[in-house]
Amino acid sequence: MYLVQSHHRPATRGIAGLAEAVVDLSAVRDNVRSFRERVPRQLMAVVKADAFGHGAVPVARAAIEAGATWLGVAHAAEALQLRAAGIQTPILTWLYDAAELMLLADVDVSVSTVAELQRVVSTPSVHYVHLKLDTGLHRAGSAPGQWIELTRTAAHYEALGAVTVRGIWSHLSHGASADAVESKRQLQFLRAGVGLARRSGLRPTVVHLANSAGALTLDAPDTDLIRVGAGLYGIDELGIGLRPAMRLVSKLAQVRRIRAGEGVSYGHEFVAERDTTIGLVPIGYADGIPRVAGRRASVLCAGVRTPVIGRIAMDQFVVDAGDLPVEPGAAVTIFGPGTAGEPTAADWADWAGTIPHEIYCGIGSRITRRYEEGAG
Ligand SMILES: *Cc1c(COP(=O)(O)O)cnc(C)c1O
Repeated sequence: MYLVQSHHRPATRGIAGLAEAVVDLSAVRDNVRSFRERVPRQLMAVVKADAFGHGAVPVARAAIEAGATWLGVAHAAEALQLRAAGIQTPILTWLYDAAELMLLADVDVSVSTVAELQRVVSTPSVHYVHLKLDTGLHRAGSAPGQWIELTRTAAHYEALGAVTVRGIWSHLSHGASADAVESKRQLQFLRAGVGLARRSGLRPTVVHLANSAGALTLDAPDTDLIRVGAGLYGIDELGIGLRPAMRLVSKLAQVRRIRAGEGVSYGHEFVAERDTTIGLVPIGYADGIPRVAGRRASVLCAGVRTPVIGRIAMDQFVVDAGDLPVEPGAAVTIFGPGTAGEPTAADWADWAGTIPHEIYCGIGSRITRRYEEGAG
């Protein structure tokens, strides 16, 4: 029987599909606690994009257990999924259309314009809004020139009982940078925006700006909460010892010998220099294994770091096991925390010229998610 490698305890059942993403929820809880120890603010667990591919509902529950008091999602449908699972923690969503708004009872929504505010006002089931000021990212958010009109209009509707402005917020443009110069400028800008909102008569209870890395680099004692996405999953942009929560594991589907001079996979980009054993890993770029990483990548196969050879295909790729005595069914760890010699998602991101966020989010629907509790 195939056992998922674990330095904590053996898995209790064999692999469900050809590959599994094993998510250690104790890592998520530890990561939440790391932020709470360092930053004395409320913590919004950002579980958008199915919790960066980790599974929104289990991750949200783990984060709440460790002290998160808010959940953040991008799309309205993601908020509805959390509510449908029975999660009652406050949720903020920042992208929705008019039809979705009607379904968003009991979810806070971000508002950037007077037109959006009016849509919320005419949707009786939605009550709490967070006004978003663009402080420099130039993505969503109120243009500075329209902020006073937005806050005054919101105060007018609040006086009528049509909405409550619970939050005022913005998003950093250089949130992943260790250099906080731009973030400080945005914080000043947000402070000014909050001042204007108060003069319009608004009394927001949660002012928020920082994401994971921003929370660690920007001293913002006059904000009330931090929005932590990447950090929950162990993406450790500032090296504070976060624990990667996901291991992507598979097993060799086939093993065979090839001779020196034989080519492997499409276009024969790899040609064997000597007789060697090749192993077939049954997942590919449709499952989120970046095709472009093929020339540099390696995986842990039967406990040994083994290079990926030839082009990564849609459903499979090949590793060069050399003269290792591997058998079909041998354990393959594609990435994990890196503690057993396997590559990390950050390594794959380097190989693919991207960031680990994209690696995690790309893990496809053919990969079973399984949850375990490590000994964090
Ligand atoms: C994704 C996102 C976050 C989380 O950012 P991380 O860098 O992943 O912590 C916070 N706020 C907004 C608006 C986001 O879109």
